[in-house]
Amino acid sequence: MNLELSEEQSAVRQLARDFVEREITPHVIAWDRAEEVDRAIVKKLGEVGFLGLTIDEEYGGSGGDHLAYCLVTEELGRGDSSVRGIVSVSLGLVAKTVAAWGSEEQKRRWLPGLTSGASIGCFGLTEPGTGSDAGNLVTRAVRDGDDYVLNGTKTFITNGTWADVVLLFARSTDAPGHKGVSAFLVPAETPGLTRRTIHGKLGLRGQATAELALEDVRVPASALLGEEGKGFSIAMSALAKGRMSVAAGCVGIAQAALDAAVRYAGEREQFGRTIAHHQLVQELLSDIALDVDAARLLTWRVADLIDRGQPFAVESSKAKLFASEAAVRAANNALQVFGGYGYIDEYPAGKLLRDARVMTLYEGTSQIQKLVIGRALTGVSAF
Ligand code: FAD
Repeated sequence: MNLELSEEQSAVRQLARDFVEREITPHVIAWDRAEEVDRAIVKKLGEVGFLGLTIDEEYGGSGGDHLAYCLVTEELGRGDSSVRGIVSVSLGLVAKTVAAWGSEEQKRRWLPGLTSGASIGCFGLTEPGTGSDAGNLVTRAVRDGDDYVLNGTKTFITNGTWADVVLLFARSTDAPGHKGVSAFLVPAETPGLTRRTIHGKLGLRGQATAELALEDVRVPASALLGEEGKGFSIAMSALAKGRMSVAAGCVGIAQAALDAAVRYAGEREQFGRTIAHHQLVQELLSDIALDVDAARLLTWRVADLIDRGQPFAVESSKAKLFASEAAVRAANNALQVFGGYGYIDEYPAGKLLRDARVMTLYEGTSQIQKLVIGRALTGVSAF
């Protein structure tokens, strides 16, 4: 693996750094307190090309490889995980899945809007009764003439209240494929689809997380993404790449924790000298630095494998598992460096910790990643 960034990769990282500095950092505390990032950020993310990374220019994308995608995701995560999540879901889980599995007509219909930021997507897999065991979802799709009629409930859906299109997974009654799950592209304004914001989240407060209720939602058969019954494979392939994006966001959190903690340790004085002079503070800083480097290397390896057309799913699980746990540790260690000031939101460590915590839960909990890795090692599925 070549660890040198190309000129284009360095340029896109700088572009992302400047974007975060200008458009995100000044608003982070206010958005977190208001429990909503300014929706105008979506259009800005589109204009700068971040919602179209790795998507062909033919469909409005800005091209680029997966390492460039990781670099941008890391910088966005360093700025604000709520904004990072908008991109990871709308681009990483929805647009990239449409690009990989969609018909020509579906790509032309959805990708230009998703990549430009004119529209936004959400990924509807989790249900109130099925999270880790997503293959057992109970939302139904019943064929009725040229249509499908959808009924069920989805929960914890990132971008849910903002989305223009829902990539929805439902059990189609007579599909022969894996557990009979199929994927549908459902316009969010379709009659019968209602959305409710989920409030009171520990972190990612700026993000629009929703419960979606589907009551006799009628979509044409052309809304089916990929073959009927292949929906579970489509979901799993989306999540395999999605986990790399989560991992990159976690690297961003850990890097932000490191930057803030080092700066503060050089300013804050106790016992007549800056706390950077105290060995136990240096231990905290060095632990964070190690987590940043290890998480970044694991994440970049996944991008490298994808860009070289190699299998990457297990490595993606390893990167997501390690980086998410590392981000929690790093933010917690940074909070310790800040002492009491770490506990109030005018300083960054508390929010980093709150935002990091969910990364060990979504797109497969840490336990689920371990089962993926264990299955690859032993050949035994312990799910
Ligand atoms: P459960 O599956 O009930 O797990 C509970 C506990 O049991 C966990 O510790 C888990 O690791 C453990 N466990 C379960 N099965 C096993 C097993 N076989 N072996 C060992 N341990 C096990 N979902 C979407 O579809 N789209 C989204 O956009 C989305 N965004 C999210 C945003 C947020 C803020 C949150 C909190 C969640 C989001 N999710 C989304 C849902 C997320 O993916 C699920 O919460 C996650 O998969 C875990 O499912 P669960 O919450 O039902 O927990």
